[in-house]
Amino acid sequence: MSTASHRIVVLPGDGIGPEVTAAAVAVLEAVSAHFGLALAFEEHAIGGAAIDAGGEALPAATLAACQAADAVLLGAVGGPKWSDPKARVRPEQGLLALRRGLGLYANLRPVKPHPAALGASPIKPHLLAGVDLVVVRELTGGIYFGDKTRSADAASDLCSYSVAEIERVVRSAARLARARRGRLVSVDKANVLETSRLWRETTSRLMAEEFPDVALEHQLVDSMAMHLIARPRDYDVIVTENMFGDILTDEASMLAGSLGLLPSASLGDGRNGVYEPIHGSAPDIAGRGIANPYAAILSAAMLLRHSLGLAEAADLVEGAVAQALDRGVLTAELAGDGRAAGTLEATAAVVAAIV
Ligand code: ATP
Ligand code: MG
Repeated sequence: MSTASHRIVVLPGDGIGPEVTAAAVAVLEAVSAHFGLALAFEEHAIGGAAIDAGGEALPAATLAACQAADAVLLGAVGGPKWSDPKARVRPEQGLLALRRGLGLYANLRPVKPHPAALGASPIKPHLLAGVDLVVVRELTGGIYFGDKTRSADAASDLCSYSVAEIERVVRSAARLARARRGRLVSVDKANVLETSRLWRETTSRLMAEEFPDVALEHQLVDSMAMHLIARPRDYDVIVTENMFGDILTDEASMLAGSLGLLPSASLGDGRNGVYEPIHGSAPDIAGRGIANPYAAILSAAMLLRHSLGLAEAADLVEGAVAQALDRGVLTAELAGDGRAAGTLEATAAVVAAIV
């Protein structure tokens, strides 16, 4: 395996962010020792912690370090301390500015429920066995970023997409599908929306030209919402625009049992990306040593795979988390009436499965 040096910027952020990123770094260090990798970690401020330190949610030094890095590992940002809607700067602005600054337009959220967590999902376990899917959400366009208007008795939000914006995210989803089980479902609302008609035409053309080996299916977002719950096993990679992806990824997260198990990656044209658990800063449990670190650790596995090209190391980390879960090392939100492991114990169980 490659021994080139890799620069990883760590952005712990707020709430449980520092606890779960510390866990992910400990696991990356164990992997690094196992394979003889040279990983260099550099910690920077973002979110509420950065606002407290210097008044900005994304300090210029943080953005510059992230731009110069091979990958970014992020905890979570935000919390009640910074939630005043009248505040000049808010922690979440740091995340948006980071994504924009790194040109990250594809948000990947894999959902692969582990048997030990099936009971914690609101979906019936027999529907969940064998589920292994990834939702790819467009991250920088669509209705969330279009012009907004407001008058006394009306309001509007503009939704627009260019062919180039559609092509680049569909291309990254199609590459992912090609590396997995070769099936891509594109989600839109082409029976009603003009942007969706462009999305569908562009996707069909691009897939025929560049990915004839990947099976393409189109789904309307309303029926997709239903099928995701009724037959989640049938999906491999799902690609969709920003708002539909926002909604479907939260829905998909319910398949996995706990927010504490779900990683994510935000990717652009280069290899650099931001890797973070999908959960937030969980202020209700921050500082108590009980946060589930597995989502952050699985995000580190995605970092190894997508930004550093270290698939074998990524497999090792994912296997180690699965082993810890198999052995019943469950944090409080998963343990039910059973014995709960703390953040450090769960991290140690993953590290023990690596060395
Ligand atoms: P955000 O707006 O930042 O996404 P949120 O309001 O969606 O935050 P989270 O911070 O994700 O909420 O927390 C939602 C619930 O899930 C909380 O009760 C929290 O304690 C729990 N939770 C989130 N992450 C974890 C974790 N890693 N381990 C255990 N519980 C968690
Ligand atoms: Mg949330």
